[in-house]
Order: sequence, then C-alpha cells, then structure tokens
Amino acid sequence: QSPAHPHLDALVSLDREHLIHPVAPWRKHEQRGVTVLESGRGAWLTDASGHQLLDVFAGLWCVNVGYGQESVVQAAAEQMRKLPYATGYFHFGSEPAIRLAAKLVEITPASLTRVYLTLGGSEAIDAAIRLITQFYNNTGRPAKKHFISLERGYHGSSSTGSGLTALPAFHRGFDMPLPTQHYIASPYSYRTGLDDAAQIAASVAALRAKVAQLGAENVAAFFCEPIQGSGGVIVPPKGWLKAMSVAARELDILFVVDEVITGFGRTGPMFACDAEGVQPDLMTLAKGLTSGYAPMGAMLMSEAVYAGIADGAPTGAAIGHGATYSAHPVSAAVALEVLRLYEQGGLLANGHRVAPHFAAVLDGLRDHPLVGDSRHRGLLGALELVSDKASKRGFDAALGLSDRIFDAGYRNGLVFRSFGDHILGFAPALCFTEDEFAIMGTRLKKTLDEIL
Ligand code: PLP
Repeated sequence: QSPAHPHLDALVSLDREHLIHPVAPWRKHEQRGVTVLESGRGAWLTDASGHQLLDVFAGLWCVNVGYGQESVVQAAAEQMRKLPYATGYFHFGSEPAIRLAAKLVEITPASLTRVYLTLGGSEAIDAAIRLITQFYNNTGRPAKKHFISLERGYHGSSSTGSGLTALPAFHRGFDMPLPTQHYIASPYSYRTGLDDAAQIAASVAALRAKVAQLGAENVAAFFCEPIQGSGGVIVPPKGWLKAMSVAARELDILFVVDEVITGFGRTGPMFACDAEGVQPDLMTLAKGLTSGYAPMGAMLMSEAVYAGIADGAPTGAAIGHGATYSAHPVSAAVALEVLRLYEQGGLLANGHRVAPHFAAVLDGLRDHPLVGDSRHRGLLGALELVSDKASKRGFDAALGLSDRIFDAGYRNGLVFRSFGDHILGFAPALCFTEDEFAIMGTRLKKTLDEIL
C-alpha cells in the first residue's frame, strides 16, 4: 500500500462531471466513480488510493512488454526532441515510420508487403474497409460490397467497423449493422459441443453457405480474429484459421485477419497466422505494436490489393484516406523499440517459457464449482463461469455477477476483465514471471471463492 493521491476526491468529482469513458455505462459510471490508475512497473499497477494490483490483462490486452520499460521511454523522448511530428502528406515522411513499415513487412506473413500506419485498431479496421471498397471499385467489380464476420467478433467501434463487430452494445442505438453486413456463427466449441474437426467443418460450411446466399460476386471480404477476444476469448481449434483462409480464397473473397489482440507474441508465435502458415490478403494490428506506450495501429495489404487500388485510380489522383497523425514518428519510434524488446530483449521467449504456468493457473481452477470451461493459447485465456456445469447454464443478469467479481478481484489486488456476466478474460504481459503466476493463482481462487 502506497500513500493516497492528495487530490483523489477532486479527481473523482471532476471525472464524474466531465470525462466520457470509452464503452462505459455512462450514468452507472458516474455513480460508481472512477478508479484512477497512477503508476506501473512490470506487471504491477498502483492506483491513486495507493492500492497495488497485479495486472493480468496488460492494460487492455496491450501492454505486452509490461510497464516501466525505460528504453521505450527513451526512444519516445529522443524522437520527440529530434522531430515530434512529420506529416506523411505532400510526399514527406520520417525515418521511424519508414523503418517500422519495412520491419512489419519482414515479420508478418510473406503475403503482406504494404503498410498503412494508423492511430489504433479501430482506424486500421476502418482503413481496411474503405480501401477494400476502393479495391473492388478500381478493379471493375463494384458489386463486391458485402462483408462477412463472426458472431461475437470485435473489430473496434469506428462508424463502419462497428458493423463488423457483432456485440450488441456496439449496435444498440447506433443504427448498426448496415444491410451489407453479415455474420456467421462463432467457433465456440464449448457451447456448440463439436469436436475440433467438426467445428472447423461447420465454420467452413457456414462461410460457404453465406457466400452462396449473397452471391460471391457481391461479397468483398471475410474478417476474423484468430482468437475472438472481446467476444469472450473464444479459442478455435488448431487449423481453423488456415481452413477459413483457404475457403475464402476458393470463394474469391478477401481474407482479412484482425491480429489486434493476437499479434506480437500474445498466443505464442509473433502472429497467430504464423502457427498455421496463413497468408492473409490484409492484416490489422495495434495494441502490442506499441505496447500502449503511444497510440498506433497498422493495416497491411498484399501487393495485389495495393496494385489494384494504385493502378485503378485515375492517374495522379490522391487516394483520399489518411489523417494528420498517420504514421506518427513518436509512435513509430516507440513501436520499433517495442519490437526490439520482443525479439532481442527476450520477451517473446519469456512468453513461451511462462505460458505453461499461465495455463496451469486456469486449468487448475477447472474443478472449482463455478468454472465450466478454461481455455487458453499462449498468454491469452479465459474462465467461463456457469451456475450448473452439466447444463452449462449461466447466471441471472440480476445477480450482477460481473460487478461482484470485478470488485472482489480489485480487493484481492487483481486486474482482469469480464465479458458478459460470466466470462473472465486474461492476457498477462509477456514479462510475467513464474512467481507472478503463482500470485495470480492464489488471488484468483480467493476471488472465485468469495463470490460463490
Ligand atoms: N480489433 C480487435 C480484435 C480488438 O480487440 C480491438 C480492440 O480491442 C480493435 C480491433 C480496436 O482497436 P482500438 O481499440 O485500438 O481501436
């Protein structure tokens, strides 16, 4: 316990009066009041009341290198001192952005050769949608405008990307999804009860059926997360991603893989695509790209998509997509140092080394009376809570279980996230130690016991 911030009460009042929080129940947040996070080191956070928390969610599954990495701070400071901003407009550019684009092409699947650097994941998704539209218009197939994604998928909350997202809160009241948006079932094996081969076959069949229903000549792309994050950490069987990518190619639709969460060692390899040799047409990245030290995302595309857009546009005409802060040099300098830490700094290797301890914590709770399922890959995982293990029945929303779990977790010095009322998600930083997983295990069990 550290000393409390001297102006904590004032901060809570000011927050209540002025700050709109992302994806929050606005009035409920005002009543509850903010928890002000003050500082971080490694996997640990301290809040403004002086309470120490083990962060088992890497911020928002993004601080993969952990807090307090001095070399990242230095990279940002040096770039700010030298040149804090460089536009990408008017044929200008900056060294960190150029080097980052080349580095991303080097480490992502070979199919991807061109990089557009954004401010985060939502903007990367938005860029993908807009540029895919431009691609089909420029290559003489303007009818290909329908998009397919997965139920329970999350692809950010931009005006169009929130349509690809298939979570009710992102549609309710926003007139989403658009009529050109379609979904197929999530590969949620715990609920479908299918074995691995049958689950993969069911997903492939669902994609084929949806494309047949819409007509391949009208379908632009299939977007998916290799592991669905905000939909409840749905881990599909190994081979699922590859099978979906092959099906998309056969169906003549673009395959877009959203590795915003799964990228940068989160599931073991640098990218989830690497585990199955998947060669996507487009890829979206964010989060672990800068580990949250500065905002940045990326949208990568194949040479064929790039050429279709570039060569189909009127000669010399601008492709009207971009922002003042696209390819921001400070974020790019941060990303380059973060990527160095994954590789030369040994963080990817540490993630591999400690992943079995993470798995042991989750699987060790399988026998807990509240736990219906534990699932994980690399350092991404979930516990699904049920009121009855045999029927897999969830909980009455009136119980307010997620708030109770979150509060108990906080009291026990643990930060994780809940999805709906019954799925607890975990995404520890790649710098976690064996001892920290032991602490996680003890605190998580205590938290579950308290809400029994
Ligand atoms: N795609 C996925 C898979 C995500 O998990 C997220 C954010 O959680 C996004 C896109 C949107 O990224 P951002 O929040 O940086 O806009």
